[in-house]
Amino acid sequence: MTSHGTPGPGDLTALRPRLPSPLRPAEDERFARHGVRLLLKRDDLIHPELAGNKWRKLAPNLRAAAEAGRRTLLTFGGAYSNHLRATAAAGRLLGFATVGVVRGDELAARPLNPSLARCAADGMRLLFVDRTAYRRRSEPAEVAALLAGAGLEADSVYVIPEGGSNALAVHGCTELGRELRGAADTVAVACGTGGTLAGLAAGLGADGRALGFPVLRGGFLDAGIRDLQRAAFAGPAGEWRLEDRFHFGGFARVPAELDAFAADFEERHGLAVERLYVAKMLYGLTTLAAEGAFPPGTTVAAVITGTPEPTEPTEPADGP
Ligand SMILES: *Cc1c(COP(=O)(O)O)cnc(C)c1O
Repeated sequence: MTSHGTPGPGDLTALRPRLPSPLRPAEDERFARHGVRLLLKRDDLIHPELAGNKWRKLAPNLRAAAEAGRRTLLTFGGAYSNHLRATAAAGRLLGFATVGVVRGDELAARPLNPSLARCAADGMRLLFVDRTAYRRRSEPAEVAALLAGAGLEADSVYVIPEGGSNALAVHGCTELGRELRGAADTVAVACGTGGTLAGLAAGLGADGRALGFPVLRGGFLDAGIRDLQRAAFAGPAGEWRLEDRFHFGGFARVPAELDAFAADFEERHGLAVERLYVAKMLYGLTTLAAEGAFPPGTTVAAVITGTPEPTEPTEPADGP
């Protein structure tokens, strides 16, 4: 470990994460009216640039990459991927080169959206691929072709799957569950790949159940979560279920009603509400409370898994 200057790759303690993340009560009459206590698990405060579940999922992968001597991280995502942005930030903070494989070759000819512009500003090299190639992203032959096409040596590159969800990431998220043991009966979390839920449920053990809110349409996530738990723990772990009614039409769809709910929640509770995931979970949870889904006396913890996307890339802070 270096005592000053840029931390070495994999040296995450030098980034001084705020762990365990704060757990704070929230006064909200929409819950209190039904005898339900609401807590906010502030994973968004873990690190200003590597926030939320992205820290928990990336940390073990960054350590593994550094231990294997791999200096380049390559991963996959859509045009609005929080995971791509987190990987780009991790690369800048820890000294890894980063490559982002982006779904949609038509995007190459357009100006970058704010999320991808942030990735590029952090030094991420963006490779836009067509949807057919992107669908084959977990096939070794496709990955080999991508690496060769980009002029990268396979043994210098650490490949992280889409959304960052692999067995190591799921293990990283068990810590979230352990931090919440005994603190809540139900822990609510938004789900993309479900990797966070898979680890959360395992970490809670018998001390609470996890409630997932998928933000993608399709209802195929149960099997994906079982696969992730099998990869991480060789079998099912913890108690969890999914509530599929609150995807609002699919990923990155933020209708006015959801946006208004989120703005109101921000006003009530004084925190910035990320719209693609966190807002849908909070909306779903508030609706369930109104429906009387939680018996009086229940304590519910809502995991704030991230921060809102940037509107414009800011200059990375350079030293003198
Ligand atoms: C990526 C992300 C999620 C989804 O995490 P999964 O492990 O893929 O389910 C949830 N919330 C926020 C804010 C995210 O950025």
